[in-house]
Amino acid sequence: MPVRGLGDYDSDNIFAKILRNEIPSRRVYEDDFAIAFHDINPQAPIHILVIPRTPHISLADFATTAPPETVAGFFRAVAIVARQLNLEDPGYRILANMGHHAHQEVPHFHVHIFGGRPLGHMLPPLPG
Ligand code: 5GP
Repeated sequence: MPVRGLGDYDSDNIFAKILRNEIPSRRVYEDDFAIAFHDINPQAPIHILVIPRTPHISLADFATTAPPETVAGFFRAVAIVARQLNLEDPGYRILANMGHHAHQEVPHFHVHIFGGRPLGHMLPPLPG
């Protein structure tokens, strides 16, 4: 069985509402597979969220249950967004939080794009 991830999809989550235009967002890109918009609480000079149009909770859910063309179209959209924001040359980071340990807050699969300054190491150093 595919890994479904964090239970049933909640169609009232905040990103579902953004997809339906029930709450505003500052969109920077959209196509048949994804929409991208500014994070409301940016952690870098450029902090964009890219979300699929389909109701999937997490990477585990999306990558194992969405049709392959949907998965491919989504990840292509992530790269297109970064290119359109001129982030390829200086470089950028993508990140997807999955579940409790990663502190995933919104149960609609999303990829963060961070850029606009040197981003340092991947994670804070382990203590000690
Ligand atoms: P997570 O921790 O789930 O990977 O990240 C969720 C992200 O969604 C956070 O960076 C948070 O700032 C962002 N976020 C939460 N609510 C909203 C909202 O209503 N609008 C936008 N644009 N971003 C949001």
